[in-house]
Amino acid sequence: MTDPKLRVLISSEQIQNRIRELGEKISHDYPGNNLHMIGILKGAVFFMTDLARAMKRDVFIDFMGISTYGKGKTSSGEVKVTKVHEVVGEGTRIHGEVVDREAVRSFFPAFTLDLEGRVKEASCGCPHFRRSGLREGPCEHMLALRLAYARQRAAEEALRQTPEGRKLIRAETRSYVRREASGQEQVYRVSLDGQVVAVEWGPRLGEPRRQKLWFDTDAEARAAYFARLESLSSEGYIDAASQLV
Ligand SMILES: [Zn+2]
Repeated sequence: MTDPKLRVLISSEQIQNRIRELGEKISHDYPGNNLHMIGILKGAVFFMTDLARAMKRDVFIDFMGISTYGKGKTSSGEVKVTKVHEVVGEGTRIHGEVVDREAVRSFFPAFTLDLEGRVKEASCGCPHFRRSGLREGPCEHMLALRLAYARQRAAEEALRQTPEGRKLIRAETRSYVRREASGQEQVYRVSLDGQVVAVEWGPRLGEPRRQKLWFDTDAEARAAYFARLESLSSEGYIDAASQLV
């Protein structure tokens, strides 16, 4: 760091500490013996080796190369998120369309991201997926769709941090999750629909309690809705969807 124009924003010590935490969390969440790590070349090389060392266990490491769909490095419209559907208590179901120039055809990958951000119930019509499912990791179409979904979510999140962006939101549902010391998960769902705010809460498995609040105007309902989301965050609840990207 001898170039005076460069300054350190995140120290290598901070990065290594975070990698160590990630390694411990992955080891804890996936206690089995056949953990398979797949990194995307070439950028992931150094991170992957640091992360593998942080696991303090045997892991399999593989790399795969992917190329950007379409021309250039930005979204070209050749990867489309066609449907996003929240499945109560399960996660988010995502459908997409990916134009594969090499195969000269489109594929329609779909998968569910569970509340911990794991890929479940995946499907794709491509030869890779038909041959091996998820055993060799997700196919390139799923990776492209997941990336497109992450980008879309990031853009939506940035927009909802602004007063103008919030005004555009008239109806939506958010799920928040908190793990109690007992290991049980509390799920809190808040919906905004016009002048109505509906709340459901309770343990992940079990009958939730429900509450519905009517407001005189959309603006009052929206203000109450965002206030509720903010108080959940301050009480240690995590936006379930934020873990999915
Ligand atoms: Zn595929």
